[in-house]
Amino acid sequence: MRITVTGGAGFIGANLVRRLVAASDVEVSVLDDLSSGRRAYLEELPRTRLVVGDVRDEAALDEVVAGADAVVHLAARVSVPESVADPVDTHEVNATGTLRVFEAARRHGDLHVVWPSSAAVYGSPTTMPVSEELPPAPASPYAASKLAGEGLARSHASSYGLPVLTFRFFNVFGPLQPADHAYAAVVPAFVDAALAGRPLTIYGDGEQTRDFISVHALTGVLETALRRRLVHIGPVNLAFGTRRSINELAGLLEEHFGPLPVEHREERPGDVRHSQADNRLLRALVPDLPQDDFPAALADTVRWFRAQHDDVAQLTPGPS
Ligand code: NAD
Repeated sequence: MRITVTGGAGFIGANLVRRLVAASDVEVSVLDDLSSGRRAYLEELPRTRLVVGDVRDEAALDEVVAGADAVVHLAARVSVPESVADPVDTHEVNATGTLRVFEAARRHGDLHVVWPSSAAVYGSPTTMPVSEELPPAPASPYAASKLAGEGLARSHASSYGLPVLTFRFFNVFGPLQPADHAYAAVVPAFVDAALAGRPLTIYGDGEQTRDFISVHALTGVLETALRRRLVHIGPVNLAFGTRRSINELAGLLEEHFGPLPVEHREERPGDVRHSQADNRLLRALVPDLPQDDFPAALADTVRWFRAQHDDVAQLTPGPS
């Protein structure tokens, strides 16, 4: 099986590529502009080719899509604050780039496309859990760009019969996730702070909740979707349908690190209070969905970050 992964040098992409090429029947071509992804994440992987380029570039897309059986389209500008600062760039990559990928899939024989939209399209819903039937209410240019992609996926399925599956990802965490920028996701930000001996920063009272899913579980669902060629006309929530608070996450991390100091800051404007998926549609599509692996996956994530931290500590000369 030959699979093209756009954004394959990023957090979710590199985890997916590693998982896919672990099977000897899979070859992967990655298209990534390395704007946030890292070449090092793909080095020394078997049956993996990286083309450095932009998803908006038709020739680069043709190069990676030719001869493929399926495309996983993950390339995107993923930062909400950056989308607020530069909405046109986010729209061009996330909406126009997604259209370009669908067109490439169509040119090369109506390839199966699996790609993520985001729970951000729900905005700040007042009811929980959120089902795909809820009217979207994007509150950022990032969310709007993902919603535009959803419209394009649906219209390519109905106008051209393109076999597409759109997932709405919720809060994904795990190894390879960046922790080193101001808007890092909460799991890597907390683990990084704990390892560095800094307090955990909690915005507001910490009782806000998230539907966390490990990148291990998420890429397992993506692989299943590829192997079974799953399609659906509308978006499908990809989450376990659980709700864990930020305080609960901090408490679980104390089991790994001991007592952790916390610094409370003002709630950030625009932060969603609660996020929880209704995942009945996902369960209908993937009846053998694995169990939520949160505590074990969090332990794995801590192990991975600890190993990175120890490597850096060994390379950094101490005081002489
Ligand atoms: P990431 O930033 O680690 O990965 C995105 C990858 O796309 C990077 O490798 C980047 O270099 C590449 N890229 C960006 N612009 C590109 C362009 N114009 N051409 C080619 N490559 C480009 O982010 P991630 O967390 O791995 O996200 C992967 C996908 O999942 C994105 O589509 C994102 O919107 C979606 N998603 C992620 C989450 C999450 O919790 N991480 C939640 C919802 C949706």
